Amino acid sequence: MTEKIYEDPVLGPVHIRKNPRARRISLRVNAARRISLTLPWLVPYRTGIAFVESRREWVQEVLGRLPERPAADPEAVERMRALAKATLPVRLSELALQHGFQYNSLRIKNNVSNWGSCSVRGNINLNLRLVTLPLELRDYVMLHELCHLRYMNHGPQFHTLLEQVCPGHRALEKALRAYRLR
Ligand SMILES: [Zn+2]
Repeated sequence: MTEKIYEDPVLGPVHIRKNPRARRISLRVNAARRISLTLPWLVPYRTGIAFVESRREWVQEVLGRLPERPAADPEAVERMRALAKATLPVRLSELALQHGFQYNSLRIKNNVSNWGSCSVRGNINLNLRLVTLPLELRDYVMLHELCHLRYMNHGPQFHTLLEQVCPGHRALEKALRAYRLR
């Protein structure tokens, strides 16, 4: 049985197997948060992927109910930090330039309390764990913090602005909840 990995933009990696004995499509999420899809032999992969897309909300619900994973080990944190330093500043400045935002400074933080924050002085903090997110969720967090440069709250104007720069941001916000900080 061969396994393929489909990188779902919202859910992350989905492990797909074809099983000659499977009678129907089945999608499972295990306690380690691994998402697996089993397909009967003759069902095409694209049908399986469409099935995953139609069940995203369910998968997110299941992920949301799972206990948090143990804290990342120090070496993993250092690997994430190196990757974060190499990628996040460049991406934040790209997004700022593209949408006309000006921030004061960026710091990469190691914490489990938030994905990002923005101070009234225009200093943005980003969590180094952003490098573990699908790219569209990483961008969503950055654009969210950039919008706080104009509105320091989550009021209607903030959301209107965020929707302009990040269309579909409510769905991304929801998808982000499946990725718990730990
Ligand atoms: Zn916010």
